[in-house]
Amino acid sequence: MGKVLIIGAGGVGTVVAYKVAQNSDVFTEIVLASRTKAKCDAIAAKIGGNKIQTDQVDADNVEELINLFKKHKPELVINVALPYQDLTIMDACLACGVNYLDTANYEPKDEAKYEYKWQWAYQDRFKEAGLTAILGCGFDPGATSVFTAYAAKHYFDEMQYLDIVDCNAGDHGKAFATNFNPEINIREVTQKGKYWENGKWVETEPHEIHKPIDYPEIGPKESYVIYHEELESLVKNYPTLKRARFWMTFGQEYLTHLRVIQNIGMARIDPVIYNGVEIVPIQFLKAVLPDPGELGENYTGMTSIGCRIRGLKDGKERTYYVYNNCSHEAAYKETGAQGVSYTTGVPATIGAMLFMQGKWRKPGVFNVEEFDPDPFMEQMNKQGLPWHEKFDINLEV
Ligand code: NDP
Repeated sequence: MGKVLIIGAGGVGTVVAYKVAQNSDVFTEIVLASRTKAKCDAIAAKIGGNKIQTDQVDADNVEELINLFKKHKPELVINVALPYQDLTIMDACLACGVNYLDTANYEPKDEAKYEYKWQWAYQDRFKEAGLTAILGCGFDPGATSVFTAYAAKHYFDEMQYLDIVDCNAGDHGKAFATNFNPEINIREVTQKGKYWENGKWVETEPHEIHKPIDYPEIGPKESYVIYHEELESLVKNYPTLKRARFWMTFGQEYLTHLRVIQNIGMARIDPVIYNGVEIVPIQFLKAVLPDPGELGENYTGMTSIGCRIRGLKDGKERTYYVYNNCSHEAAYKETGAQGVSYTTGVPATIGAMLFMQGKWRKPGVFNVEEFDPDPFMEQMNKQGLPWHEKFDINLEV
C-alpha cells in the first residue's frame, strides 16, 4: 500500500520496526533512519529477511531530513525520535509532500514544557498541502485518546469526568531506570501537576495528589496526579468534561531516586561547564542510566493503562472503564523490547496502518481522538494490545 520511513531507533523505534515488518501487506517498503545508523542496522538484522532499509539522519537538521525524504520518497514518516525533533520533521514533510505521525508533542530543549500550540500552528500549512499529520499516536497519548473517543461515540451522551489511569507494575530488577528516554521521562514527572476542572487548569505541587487505585490483575498501587499532554487536546475536543485528570503509579524507590537526582542538580536542563566542556546534567545522566531499550530481558509483570469515565447516557448516570494490560515478558519475547516501548510502538503502527488504508487520512493536523476510533480499537485486538471494558462499576477516582 505504501512506503514508510521510521525516524528513531530507540526502544519505541524497535517495536515500530517489528510491527510494520509484520504488516507487509500495508507497509510495502520500510526505511529506518536515526542519528546512529548502527542501531538501525542492528534492528534490521534482528528482524531479518531484508525487509528494512536503513539510513542515517540528524533530525534536528531540516536540510538533512529533506535530503533523506528526497532519497527515499516515503508516503508517511513515523517520528519516534524525541519530541525535540517534531517541528524540524514536520517542516521537512511540508517541503517534500510527506505525511506525518508522532507519539509525543513538541518540547523545546531549553524549557521543560510541552504544549500542542507549536504543532497546532501547522494546521493551515498541512491542510493547504493536502497532507495529514497525526499527533500523539502512542499509548498515552494515543490509545487513551482513542479509548475516550470510543466511549464518547458508543456509550455516552455527555462525558463529565475522565480519569486516565496508568500503572506500570513491572519489575526490571534495576535500582533506578526509566521506561522511556530518561531525559524526556524525568522532565515529565518532575514538573508541577495539573488537571482540568470546571473550565480551567488547576496546578498542584509535583505528586501532591495521590491515592491507591486498584488495577485489574495487579491490585492496588499508589497513583499520583501528574500533567500529561493528552489532557490538553481532550478537554478541547470534549468540552462537556467537568474534570479531566491523569494518574500514574510510582514506587517509593523510584520517587526517592528522583528526589535525590533533583536535589543534587542532575535533573538540570541548562548547560554547566565541566573540565572546560559544556555539558547538560540531565543529558549526562541519560548516558549513565540503563538504556530503556535494553531493559526488556529480565522485566517481569505488566502495565495496565486505561480510561475511567463518568457521565450521562439517556439521562442516567453511567460509569465506564476501558483498559489494556500488557505483559513485559510477552512484549520482550515478540520484539526484544519491554512493555512501555511495546505499548507505544504498537499504537503508532496502527495509526500508520489506518493512514495507509485511507481510514485516518484528511488534510490538516489532528490529535488521534479526531479520527474514527472503531478501526483503531479493532486493530489493537489484532496487533497485540487487547482491551477490556467494565460498565457501571465504582471507578474509585
Ligand atoms: P529512546 O531514547 O530510546 O530513542 C530515541 C531514538 O531517537 C534514539 O535512537 C536516538 O538516537 C534517536 N534520536 C535522538 N535524537 C535524534 C536526532 N536528532 N536525529 C535522529 N535521531 C535522533 O526513546 P524511546 O524510544 O523510549 O522514545 C521515543 C519517543 O516515544 C519519544 O519521543 C518519547 O517521548 C515517545 N514516547 C511516547 C509514549 C506514548 O505513550 N505516547 C510513551 C513512551 C515514549 P541515538 O540512538 O543515536 O541516541
